[in-house]
Amino acid sequence: MKKIAIVGAGPAGVLLAHYLLRRESGYQVDLYERLSDPRTTSFSTARTFPISLTERGLHALNQIPGVEAAIRQIGLEMWGTHFHQGNGKMRSTTRAKPLMTLDRTRLVMLLLDQLTTTYDASRLNLHFNCPCTQINPEMQTLTLPTHVAQYDLLVGADGARSMVRGQFFNTELFEFAQKYTPTDYKSLILPRSDADLEPALEAGKIHSWRIKDGTIVMLLHQPDGSMSGVILFSRQNNQVASLATGQSVLDFFRQHFPEVGQRMPASEAEAFANRPVARILTIRCSHYHYRDSILLIGDAAHAVSPSIGQGCNAALEDVVIFDALLDEYSDHLGAAIEQFTIRRKPDAHALVELGDYAFPSTTGLFVEFVLRQRLADLLHRRFPDRFAPSLSTLVFESSVPYAEILQSHQSWIAKVKQSNEKNFKT
Ligand SMILES: Cc1cc2nc3c(=O)[nH]c(=O)nc-3n(C[C@H](O)[C@H](O)[C@H](O)COP(=O)(O)OP(=O)(O)OC[C@H]3O[C@@H](n4cnc5c(N)ncnc54)[C@H](O)[C@@H]3O)c2cc1C
Repeated sequence: MKKIAIVGAGPAGVLLAHYLLRRESGYQVDLYERLSDPRTTSFSTARTFPISLTERGLHALNQIPGVEAAIRQIGLEMWGTHFHQGNGKMRSTTRAKPLMTLDRTRLVMLLLDQLTTTYDASRLNLHFNCPCTQINPEMQTLTLPTHVAQYDLLVGADGARSMVRGQFFNTELFEFAQKYTPTDYKSLILPRSDADLEPALEAGKIHSWRIKDGTIVMLLHQPDGSMSGVILFSRQNNQVASLATGQSVLDFFRQHFPEVGQRMPASEAEAFANRPVARILTIRCSHYHYRDSILLIGDAAHAVSPSIGQGCNAALEDVVIFDALLDEYSDHLGAAIEQFTIRRKPDAHALVELGDYAFPSTTGLFVEFVLRQRLADLLHRRFPDRFAPSLSTLVFESSVPYAEILQSHQSWIAKVKQSNEKNFKT
């Protein structure tokens, strides 16, 4: 049996374990995760965040028996977005197909449960609190806190700051670009409120607020009635990061985002002040494989800005693509991982570009963006053969390759890029 070592039990790593173990060729999978098993540690909302899954991610997950029904238990469907405006009014978009929103860690827990109920230790071993610290590609070994393990294929599914990817730096012709986006973020959690607050925030919709300096709050309902999401703000013009006390947090939200401020209890304001600012890293690599025995997938290969809501979707889609390559190359691992680079790179690079520039950060361009989306979708509904759907519809409601979407929206991307360069001069 071929030994596959997967480093990182995030959505990509755990889904890959499922896909490999159900293959008839019989793989032995060891999954190594530096953190503890999320199913045995108390759940902390401060350590996680909601993600939206679209066509691409849901298709990947739904291939595993039982997962579709289990996701419905922990997720909520979102049928569009309400963009709230300062004057109490709002613009709304609707979707023909809903997004499924759920918590990232709960998704991982669900996939782990399905794994351990389906496979036993004869083929699957999960190792938590087990960071991989070193790799020896010549000997095909990885170093763990308690032992050194041998592999036939090592998969780096260890996120944007991938340790496995670090190994590629010593190899010939590897090119790599890491960029922090000019926007930072902090998580935001509003507990369930039974008070009749106006305006009511409709369930089944993403709620978004934006102020003139480009700061955005995005909140989604959770199955327990709470709301969670993020506030995204420019690193340069950064009033949010300097809010150091609960009172200053409350004052800020009540002044700039009153619908959020009135729903924020003092305890969350205090927690928000103490929560660290998170940076957003985007990653581009010239290849995702090394020789015939190391592969990168998910954020380790192509981390992207969360503003486009596709990082996890693309990470899950990677698994489907790799699985199809194993079919095509009759489980010849070396050929499949080499082809993975060839097939996936154009889309992964296009996704990073779309993540950076599909959605504008200035209010003026944002209004133009919303109007363009509406017009494109309207024309597409009336004359589907002559007009393509909008950029948003293509990203969120189709599985059209990202490279094709980028190609057909080059002029819009160039316009946003130019506007961002003017606004975020460093
Ligand atoms: C605020 C926010 C909102 C987002 N919203 C969305 C969204 O709406 N839709 C969407 O599709 N995506 C979204 N994303 C992106 C999404 O979360 C990521 O793209 C996705 O989690 C990537 O999955 P992954 O498995 O590749 O990596 P990760 O989720 O980063 O998992 C990597 C795992 O590897 C482990 N690890 C790291 N190093 C080691 C090591 N040396 N040894 C062992 N284990 C290790 C980590 O502990 C982690 O568990 C969002 C991201 C953020 C930050």
